[in-house]
Amino acid sequence: MAAQQILIWEDDPASPGVLIMAAKPNIGQIPFKYTFPPPALATSQHSNTPQFRYWNAAAALRRGADFWGPNVVRGQWFRGPALTVRLEVGPGWNAGYDRQALNFYYGVSSAATIYAVASPDMLCHELGHAMLDAIEELLWNTLALEIEAFHESFGDMSAILCSLQIPSMRDSVLASLAVTGGSLYVSSRLSRIAQQFGTALYLISPNDAEPDCLRNAVNPFCYCDPTPLPLSAHTTQLSSDRHSFSRIFTGALFEAMAGMLALYPAPTSAQLLKVTEDMRDIMVDAVKSARIVPSYYAEVAAEMVQKSALKNPAYLAIFRDAFVRRCILSLESASRIMSVLNGAVDTNSERVGDEALPKLARLESSRYGLKEPLFVQMPADAAKSIARSATPDGRSMEPTSPEAAATAFVDQLFMKGLVNYGDVSDNYNKGDNGDKESKDPGLAHTTHRLQREGKELHLIRIRFNCGPRHVCSKS
Ligand SMILES: [Zn+2]
Repeated sequence: MAAQQILIWEDDPASPGVLIMAAKPNIGQIPFKYTFPPPALATSQHSNTPQFRYWNAAAALRRGADFWGPNVVRGQWFRGPALTVRLEVGPGWNAGYDRQALNFYYGVSSAATIYAVASPDMLCHELGHAMLDAIEELLWNTLALEIEAFHESFGDMSAILCSLQIPSMRDSVLASLAVTGGSLYVSSRLSRIAQQFGTALYLISPNDAEPDCLRNAVNPFCYCDPTPLPLSAHTTQLSSDRHSFSRIFTGALFEAMAGMLALYPAPTSAQLLKVTEDMRDIMVDAVKSARIVPSYYAEVAAEMVQKSALKNPAYLAIFRDAFVRRCILSLESASRIMSVLNGAVDTNSERVGDEALPKLARLESSRYGLKEPLFVQMPADAAKSIARSATPDGRSMEPTSPEAAATAFVDQLFMKGLVNYGDVSDNYNKGDNGDKESKDPGLAHTTHRLQREGKELHLIRIRFNCGPRHVCSKS
C-alpha cells in the first residue's frame, strides 16, 4: 500500500514558499524518536493552520534525524530514545534546545504572526543542536566562545544539509547553478537561513537579522579573536555573540561545499546528495576527534581537513583553502597539517587521554558578586595542538589559556544577563530559581544556571536559545 502523502514546505515558507508532497512521517519511528504533545492532529492542505505546521514539522525533523542519525554512535538523543517537540510554546522570536525538548515560539508583529516551527530551517537548526549534543556531549557545558559559536554553525549547516535531502530542492539548486555561473557559493534560498522568520524579525529589530533572512552562509567574515569583539553589533559587523561569530565557520563550510560540488563538471542530483553525505561525515568525524580547547575553530577545522582527505583526496585542498581564506587556520598551521598527512611530522594532534578534554575547575568569582568560588567545565589546554588560527597579519595566533577563555565566556554571560541565579537566588536577592524558570517567561532567555552540587556552586548550561533575548513579542 502506498504511503499516505502530506503537503509540506520544500524549503522556507518565504523562499518563495514552495509546497510539495511527501510521505507522511512516522513520528514514533526509532532510532531518534520524537514525542509530539498530544493530540496528534489531522493533516491539512492549508499552510496557515496548526495541522499543517504539525505535519510540516514532523516531516522536517524526521528527515533531519534520518540524515544525521546513522553517524551518531550513541544511537539516541542525549537523554534517551525520545526527544520532546514543543511546537508553539508561546509568543517570542525564539527557538531552542534544552536537552529535554526542542522548543519553538511564535513572533507577533503588527503585520503577522510568524511561527518558528513553520520553517524547516529553524526546525533543522534546533535538531542540529540536539544531534551535536548526541555526538559530543562535552561541548554542552564547556565554557569557550568558539565552542558555543561552533554549536550554532553546526545548526545552520544542519538546516542547509537537511534541506538538500529533498529531491526537488536538489533539482532546484542544480537548475540555479546555470544562472549563477555554476557555483553553489552565491546568496540563494539555500544559503539564506530562515528567510520568513529573519525577514519579519529584521523589521522589528534590524540588528538581529538580515533584511532577507536570519543568517546567510554566504558572508565575508574572517576569523579574529572573539574576546575583544563587542557583545553585539549590527549584522554587517562581527560581534562575540555566538550567532554572529558562527557565520565565519558556516561561511567556510559552505565555501567548501561549493568546492566539493565543483569537482563535478555537470553535477547530478545524486552527486549533490553525495556531497551532503560527505560533508556530514567529515563534520561528525572531526567533532569526535577534535580536542575541546579554547581555539576550537582551528582545532575542529584542522580535523576536518584531515578527515576530508580520507574521504576524498581531492577534498583536502578545498577544505584547507576555505579555512585559510577565512583565517580559521594560519598558513603555518595548514602547512603543518599537510606535513602530518604526508607522514613527515609525527604529531600529538589526536585526542589522547584526559589532557584533550575539558576539566572541572574553580573560577575566581568575586567579580560576579558571588561569595564563593564557581566550579565550571573549563576547556582543555591547546598547547599540544598544531591547529592555530591566523592573526590579521597572517601569523599563527597563540592560543588563549583555558582560564582566560572560561573567564571571558562567563563575563559575557553575566554582562548579558544570561545567568539564572537558581540555587543561590535568595542570597543575591534575585527572586528567581530553577523551579520557577519553566513557568516564568521572563527567565526563558537565560542559558546558564547557578546550581549547588554538594558544597560546591556550579555554573551549568540549561539551554541553547536561538533568538535574540531582548526582542519581546506581545500576544
Ligand atoms: Zn542555535
